[in-house]
Amino acid sequence: MKGFDDSLRGYSFEVHKRDDFMCRYCGLDGAVSLESWLSLSRDHLLPKGHAERENDEFIVTACMFCNTADNRYFENAEERNLQFDGMTQEQLVVQRNEWVQRTRSDYRDFWEKNVAKRRID
Ligand SMILES: [Zn+2]
Repeated sequence: MKGFDDSLRGYSFEVHKRDDFMCRYCGLDGAVSLESWLSLSRDHLLPKGHAERENDEFIVTACMFCNTADNRYFENAEERNLQFDGMTQEQLVVQRNEWVQRTRSDYRDFWEKNVAKRRID
């Protein structure tokens, strides 16, 4: 990535490449359009203060929505009974995706009701 210094995609490129440029939660494919690619970000699977937090093994590709869908994920870790230690990347993604999808589902309902263009029959 010589000469490519965008901080977001520049240092995320290896993570995005490993994940085939797809959001690990909703599957948005950054390879099909520039717009999709631009919405890809890096999502931490481990909470602040965890020794492995900045290890790329525990950072995955997520679209902006999925990354921020459940921004109280770590804050609510205890009451949700979330586990972090000894978990694999895939296990952590599955654990987090449950909460991401809940928010996504609420947004879908709202979108269908208030935003989506309707067919006039
Ligand atoms: Zn997503």
